[in-house]
Amino acid sequence: MDRQQEFVLRTVEERDIRFIRLWFTDVLGSLKSLAVAPAELEAAFTEGIGFDGSAIEGLTRVYEADMLAKPDPSTFQILPWRGERHGTARMFCDILTPDGEPSLADSRHVLKRALQRAADKGFTFYTHPEVEFYLFENPADPEKPLVPVDQGGYFDHVPRGTAHDFRRAAITMLESMGISVEFSHHEAGPGQNEIDLRYADALTTADNIMTFRTVIKEVALEQDVYATFMPKPLADHPGSGMHTHLSLFEGDRNAFHEPGAPLGLSTTARRFIAGLLHHAAEITAVTNQFVNSYKRVWGGAEAPSYICWGHNNRSALVRVPMYKPGKGNSTRVEYRGVDSATNPYLAYALLLAAGLKGIEEGYELPEGAEDDVWELTDSERRALGIEPLPSSLSRAVSVMERSELVAETLGEHVFDFVLRNKRAEWADYRAQVTPFELKRYLPVL
Ligand code: GLU
Ligand code: MG
Ligand code: MG
Repeated sequence: MDRQQEFVLRTVEERDIRFIRLWFTDVLGSLKSLAVAPAELEAAFTEGIGFDGSAIEGLTRVYEADMLAKPDPSTFQILPWRGERHGTARMFCDILTPDGEPSLADSRHVLKRALQRAADKGFTFYTHPEVEFYLFENPADPEKPLVPVDQGGYFDHVPRGTAHDFRRAAITMLESMGISVEFSHHEAGPGQNEIDLRYADALTTADNIMTFRTVIKEVALEQDVYATFMPKPLADHPGSGMHTHLSLFEGDRNAFHEPGAPLGLSTTARRFIAGLLHHAAEITAVTNQFVNSYKRVWGGAEAPSYICWGHNNRSALVRVPMYKPGKGNSTRVEYRGVDSATNPYLAYALLLAAGLKGIEEGYELPEGAEDDVWELTDSERRALGIEPLPSSLSRAVSVMERSELVAETLGEHVFDFVLRNKRAEWADYRAQVTPFELKRYLPVL
């Protein structure tokens, strides 16, 4: 028993915690949970708790259905929405095979492995996400038009608005769970909001995103509204992105910063950005994993459609935020491709791997895009060497299946599962006759 584990056991006793939820994430990014009694905790820490993994997306092959969940004591938190007395706490878990090896299907492990590769080169990977989501009136019935909770727009202060109270309740809850919020505001769509989490190492951030989604859903239940992270719920309004700011540190020093260099960017940063751009199309089936994700990517409204970078350019896939002299440690790049429905463990593992590849191979960073790249013609973009992101899930999967970088980073098991699952999703989608087709063709054909 180490000190963190002992701390958990003591806190459970002192705070009269009755249930401990063991959390983990399936390959598609859904949170899974099993509850154990306090008496089981010691065994959970030493051996792990056994469960049948075969029912969980992507977790096991049928012949290795037995899995172990081993809680990470550093992630212990009391769940504020379960009340003060006889409370409930949670810990994120690592998933192990029956012989105690890390499960190759565990997305948290995929990220840990990628972070270890970075650590071997002396880097720590920090991320901070800007999470966008929509609030709709209940019931949010897929058969009926969705009703946003307000008609607010970007940065609007909606007087006595649901959104305002909602964000306050959500942020209070997040902070009580040790998750700091930097910034929050109404986003451009009606009922759309954004909450930005403070930067942390990428594993903590990915855990925090999973907690964040749960908190948002809990607060929505409390306030009788419906919250969704669907990438593009409304055809005529912006989608929900999860732009993520990325940086590498060597010890206390931001490896992306070089005083006096253009935009304050070091060679390491320039190569990292080059890696992101070079591999962007290959990782898109993970950063934008659903059929619906491509409605956002190709729906305008400040979602990135083209593979380029720019200084403060909101039409670019990678944006380098304003450089503040004297604030070198905040030097970072913003990857705007990711949407709010991604599996954050897999997405961050791939972003890191793409950037590191750029550093290892010494990729040259192309010229930054100065213009609004949406306004250029196809031939102007071609002349600048600016390629589009995949236009659909099907295309993204075709690019990903040839990617060595993705296969290596996800590992064979997760790589194959994602490909199979996404091909099946596309086949289901392609088989549909949609309201669009009926409206368009039936009256005239
Ligand atoms: N909602 C936009 C997106 O889908 C981003 C808007 C913004 O710049 O924050 O990426
Ligand atoms: Mg935003
Ligand atoms: Mg942003």
